[in-house]
Amino acid sequence: MRLVLIAPPGAGKGTQAARIAAHFGVLHIATGNLLRSHVQRGTPLGRAVRASMDAGALVPDRIVRDIVSEAMAGAKAAGVGYVLDGYPRTRAQARAVHRTAARIGMTAHAALHLRVDDEEAVRRMLARAADEHRPDDTEPVIRRRLKLYHEVTRPVVDGYAARGILVSVDGTGTADQVTARVLERLEEPAWPAICIPALLSRPATLEPRATPVLMTGCST
Ligand code: ADP
Repeated sequence: MRLVLIAPPGAGKGTQAARIAAHFGVLHIATGNLLRSHVQRGTPLGRAVRASMDAGALVPDRIVRDIVSEAMAGAKAAGVGYVLDGYPRTRAQARAVHRTAARIGMTAHAALHLRVDDEEAVRRMLARAADEHRPDDTEPVIRRRLKLYHEVTRPVVDGYAARGILVSVDGTGTADQVTARVLERLEEPAWPAICIPALLSRPATLEPRATPVLMTGCST
């Protein structure tokens, strides 16, 4: 299974991506975590992206693209799929990830979208701020991240929906409830409805092929 996961900040993307990855035995590639690890280790890359991250802005495309390419190549080498968490966030990134993945035969099968409204997202991020101490979990920065999500990431979600490969799930409720909803959708046998329109749309951003679990009824 190869999946991109798109959701507003505070939707529980990281938690759900880790659970989906464990469930399907695939690699969890979280751009935010990979970038934060560079910042914490004080690498040159970490020093280059720190200010943008602290301000809730996007880091330069080239940096994230290289990180994702390397991780995806790692998944390919290990013979597993992936859950890509936090990328793509812009239409340009969506095109880039497709090109990168296509080069190594690792294009995604579907795009999962978690829906949570802004006030719930803000409430969750402020609640976790006390435990996690993320410098970008202050209210003004949270609001900026949400604004950016609506402006530049929502169009990516709409693009996947237009291609018929979007799986949109209600992200409210407990983490367990959301996981149950997500897994039910990812395992449902009605995948042809998702696969066929994706097959017909050109240029396809995502390849409409799937793992055995998702393959049911897909013709390629
Ligand atoms: P959230 O979804 O709550 O914003 P993440 O951990 O996914 O949290 O991302 C944290 C920060 O990492 C982002 O605000 C941004 O600065 C940077 N980042 C993560 N993914 C990307 C990306 N695809 N493009 C640019 N910047 C990114």
